[in-house]
Amino acid sequence: MVSAAMSIMTSPGMPTPHPKEDPPNATEALLSTTTSSSSSRTSPSHVVFSSLVVTTCVAVAAAFAFAFAFLFFSSSAAASSSLSAASGFSRGSFVRPLAKLPHPVVLLVSFDGFRFGYQYKAAAPSIRRLIANGTEAAEGLIPVFPTLTFPNHYSIVTGLYPAYHGIVNNRFLDPAKGDSFTMKSHEPRWWLGEPLWETAANHGLTAATFFWPGSEVTKGSWSCPPRFCRLYDGSVPFEQRVDTILGYFDLPSSEIPSFMTLYLEDPDHQGHQVGPDDPQITDAVARVDQMLGRLIAGLEKRGIFEDITVILLGDHGMVGTCDKKIIYLDELVPWIQIPTSWVQTYSPVLGISPPPEVSPSEVVAKMNQGLASGKVGNGKYLQVYLKEDLPTRLHYSASDRIPSIIGMVAEGFKVEETRSENKECGGSHGYDNAFFSMRSIFVAHGPQLEKGRKVPSFENVQIYNLVTSILNLTGAPNNGSSSFPASVLLPFA
Ligand SMILES: [Zn+2]
Repeated sequence: MVSAAMSIMTSPGMPTPHPKEDPPNATEALLSTTTSSSSSRTSPSHVVFSSLVVTTCVAVAAAFAFAFAFLFFSSSAAASSSLSAASGFSRGSFVRPLAKLPHPVVLLVSFDGFRFGYQYKAAAPSIRRLIANGTEAAEGLIPVFPTLTFPNHYSIVTGLYPAYHGIVNNRFLDPAKGDSFTMKSHEPRWWLGEPLWETAANHGLTAATFFWPGSEVTKGSWSCPPRFCRLYDGSVPFEQRVDTILGYFDLPSSEIPSFMTLYLEDPDHQGHQVGPDDPQITDAVARVDQMLGRLIAGLEKRGIFEDITVILLGDHGMVGTCDKKIIYLDELVPWIQIPTSWVQTYSPVLGISPPPEVSPSEVVAKMNQGLASGKVGNGKYLQVYLKEDLPTRLHYSASDRIPSIIGMVAEGFKVEETRSENKECGGSHGYDNAFFSMRSIFVAHGPQLEKGRKVPSFENVQIYNLVTSILNLTGAPNNGSSSFPASVLLPFA
């Protein structure tokens, strides 16, 4: 059950509770859809699973955990070499000691809208270098639903699905207060969960954010300090962002932040304008690759590239959209009229909140009747659900911020109110996270990552535990698996 988690969200006037301050039932509620926040690469007691999580990535993690269980229940004297073999690492591969830095550092780099496969569109020598010398999700990083920028960036840093971290869309209504969340809302009440910069700060470590959704929000020990927390300004040149991060490594070693974020808006920006298959995308990929090259060169110049864990990822992919792939809600009028005031978002996530006197079930039934009639253009490409009837793999119901009715749109299709003119082809994202086009990349390079290794694709809620494991921190409860880090990170010698 998730009622306790929901109760957190239905108290919008309250400050976001620190997980440690949650009543026990709230913690249990979070844990009911998660495994554990802690992670270990030494103790078999941590190889536990939640039978409630039925995603592909967890099935994959289970395979790794089985391998670990085999190890720890084995009395073989050759246990440590079995570890490498059983977990897919090369024999004799262990965590490499830091050469220069006094403590582990994780730098999380996001290329917005970097669809999996973009790395093959241009020469991209720096991305490919990171892949060749690091660990890559073989078929890309799986985003959370909805595959939108704010929900996904915040899932990456909290390990929570949007229903639990509260950022259920790029914009949505607070049903209690009736006001709207926008991408400029920085009040702590919107942002639930514990992001990595807060976890670091709570443990007395320094974090630095050069843009990331949620980073400007004051939470726990995190106050978004001006020295290490940039307020979002899309006009800041990419070079300046990279050079600022590099400058942090020129600080006295005790002051170098342990966790950092770097965010670039490209190639999402171009993807929306022209779709994923356009020369502009090729150019944008080459440009963000140059920025990665600038970062690597700066780290090498300082002699610390091999000491730092660089995690390169994106929040979601991109798919082409076009005029003729649209479903118009006003064509449903013979069955039901959907007033614009009911519609919170149109596309690709159709979110409808009818007033209390209207039965959501009736609306869903009438809409689906019309869509299935064959008389609504592209009707078969939209399926409408009560949110509690959505496939459980989407984890998209346990928040009253999610509208009561959700329409799932087929890949590349859009929903609009009424027919209009002058549309051109472009690109979009936000669709079902099962679509391959919505996947992004994951590449990790650093002392705890094996060089040239591929791991099965996984959902981005696993990254929180991965980072806390590298930094040796105890993280907050989340939807990731506690056994996941051991499936990706090298064992200690
Ligand atoms: Zn995005």
